[in-house]
Amino acid sequence: MVRCIPRLILLALVAATVVVRGQEAKCSSTAQECDQQIRKMLSGRRYLGATIAETNPGLLIKALVPDGPAARSGLRTGDRLIAVNGKSLTQASASEFKQILADAGQTGRLWIIVWRRGAYIKVDARLEPYTKEQIDKIVAAHIAQSHTMTAAQ
Ligand SMILES: [Zn+2]
Repeated sequence: MVRCIPRLILLALVAATVVVRGQEAKCSSTAQECDQQIRKMLSGRRYLGATIAETNPGLLIKALVPDGPAARSGLRTGDRLIAVNGKSLTQASASEFKQILADAGQTGRLWIIVWRRGAYIKVDARLEPYTKEQIDKIVAAHIAQSHTMTAAQ
C-alpha cells in the first residue's frame, strides 16, 4: 500500500535518518497515513545510528547519527568493519551486516572490531530503541521529501 515503506524499514535499521535520493517517487499515501505507519514501524525498534557503505570487499562507516548508539560507543566515520559478534565482515555486504544486527535484536549487544588508522580497535555497542524525538525527525523528513510538492524550492 505504501511504496516508500519497505525501503524505509531497511534504512531505519541502520540509520536514524532516512536518506532519500533526489529522484525519489512521490508517496501514494496521504501524509497522515505515512505518519502513522512510520511511527508504528519504528516504535520499539532498535537502531545503531550508523550508515554503512559497501567498499567491495568489506564495509565502512560512512556517517553516524549525532549522539546515536554507534557514536556514543566510540565508532567513528571511516572505520572499516572487521568483525561483529565473532562474524567476519571483511567480505560482507551491507545486507549481511543488517542481518547480523537483526540477529542481535534480543540483547542488542554488539562486539565490534574495526580497523582505524592502522590499528584494530574493539568497540562495545548496543542497539537502542528510537527516541520519540528521533521518530519525529524521521517522520518530518519523509513528509518533507515525499509529500510536499512546492517546499524547498
Ligand atoms: Zn509517504
